[in-house]
Amino acid sequence: MPSLSQLPHQNRFARLPEGFFAWQAPDPLPAPWLVSANLAAARLLGLDETTFTGQELLNLASGNQLPDWCQPLASAYAGHQFGVFVPQLGDGRALLLGEVLGPEGHWEVQLKGAGMTPFSRHADGRAVLRSSIREYLCSEAMHGLGIPTTRALALVGSDLPVYRERAEPAAVVVRLAPSFVRFGHFEWFYARQQHDLLRQLADYVIDHDWPDLRDTPAPYLALLQRVIQRTAELMAAWQAVGFCHGVMNSDNMSILGLTLDYGPFGFLDRYDAGHICNHSDHSGRYAFDQQPGVALWNLQILASVMLPLLDRDAAIAALEDYAPQFEAAWLQRMQAKLGLAGSQPVEQDAPLIEATLQLLQQQQVDYTRFWRQLSHVGRQAGTADLNLRALFQDPAACDAWLQGYRQRLALTSGLDDERQAAMCAANPKYILRNHLAEQAIRQAEDDRDFSEVNRLLGLLAKPFEEQPELAHYAEAPPDWAAQICVSCSS
Ligand code: AMP
Ligand code: MG
Ligand code: MG
Repeated sequence: MPSLSQLPHQNRFARLPEGFFAWQAPDPLPAPWLVSANLAAARLLGLDETTFTGQELLNLASGNQLPDWCQPLASAYAGHQFGVFVPQLGDGRALLLGEVLGPEGHWEVQLKGAGMTPFSRHADGRAVLRSSIREYLCSEAMHGLGIPTTRALALVGSDLPVYRERAEPAAVVVRLAPSFVRFGHFEWFYARQQHDLLRQLADYVIDHDWPDLRDTPAPYLALLQRVIQRTAELMAAWQAVGFCHGVMNSDNMSILGLTLDYGPFGFLDRYDAGHICNHSDHSGRYAFDQQPGVALWNLQILASVMLPLLDRDAAIAALEDYAPQFEAAWLQRMQAKLGLAGSQPVEQDAPLIEATLQLLQQQQVDYTRFWRQLSHVGRQAGTADLNLRALFQDPAACDAWLQGYRQRLALTSGLDDERQAAMCAANPKYILRNHLAEQAIRQAEDDRDFSEVNRLLGLLAKPFEEQPELAHYAEAPPDWAAQICVSCSS
């Protein structure tokens, strides 16, 4: 087994031409402390419990001493923020260290919060402990839910004060992804009319991540089509689980269709289609039910900046595939949540799905708890019905809905046990609710006690498992949760 300092590597992004990035060493965090090390992600790099330990990890994560394979750089990108084009964004506080060749694929390794870069503009290049804990936990929670995401390798902190509304401890998340290329990387070169570099970027994504596209008749069109398809699938996954990203600017959209840049995200507690999780999003541009449409808006931007590489009509036709792809993927997920997967063509269950969501909205039912409770309900009325009814303001509304649901169930074959097991694999028991993250943050900030961070990391890695000793983490949020305020960059 190699150690962290000897990992096999091949830093392909660092070999791209000059216009792609600026070399930038980290500004080390003074006297760093380890908050959490994630062995599950370390295994992706070919590390194990004997090689993923101690000082080496702390040195890398804090930027105090990088292994020889690291060639730290800050990449250049632009983007549309809240609908407005910003020609220069870029890695203002993230550094790409290099690309590790793991046993089952390549992983780019990034530090987030490692100090100023040429793209920091007027900001400090730092990340605070609070938002770093949220990113660290949510990346792994999303992975546990089976949703494509960047991964989190480790989290370190420092008493170095970082000034937001108040002084807060600094932190660095070490994150992993096959590629951190964003829609905004394409916008950068298009805005500068550097069409040759634009082509090199598209070639990089194809050769690096989707080499199967190289042999298609029109590889750049195939690239756009692949991004559209992956993005549609990602949106279906977010909507089905009740995840709200909060800042779907085009620079936060991953070309690989990964969930990227966790900031003011939030999972739905009570079902509210119009929920706005980002307190800086005054117009609700990124409200929960806007997400699939905003993703298309961002894809339209991507397609438009790829036009130097594409046939215009073909690009438009590719974009027209987005809505049906999203719809099909979403209906399939919702049908599975109802325990009806594959039992009849998915379109036929669309009215039931819509009616269910309308009822949850009206009755202000907790979204995650509803689906998990439903997973225990049988064909015949039983004790599980009581737990479901208890989630409703008006239990009679639940009874009426259940009657219709049971009529639909009667059209299916198969045993209750099998359907319930399939539903428990589609409807998570545990999600990273804001108040859970908040408790871990308070312990970490107040007492430098990271046990709650690590407990949540373990819990959320297996969100579909009962884990009865931790069942209180599946309860509805306490009243104080409504006061938690999350907003843009911190
Ligand atoms: P975000 O809103 O976090 O997606 O970031 C948007 C842009 O601002 C990106 O270019 C970030 O690199 C940059 N940025 C955000 N926070 C900071 C910070 N504390 N220091 C430097 N750049 C930052
Ligand atoms: Mg960002
Ligand atoms: Mg942010």
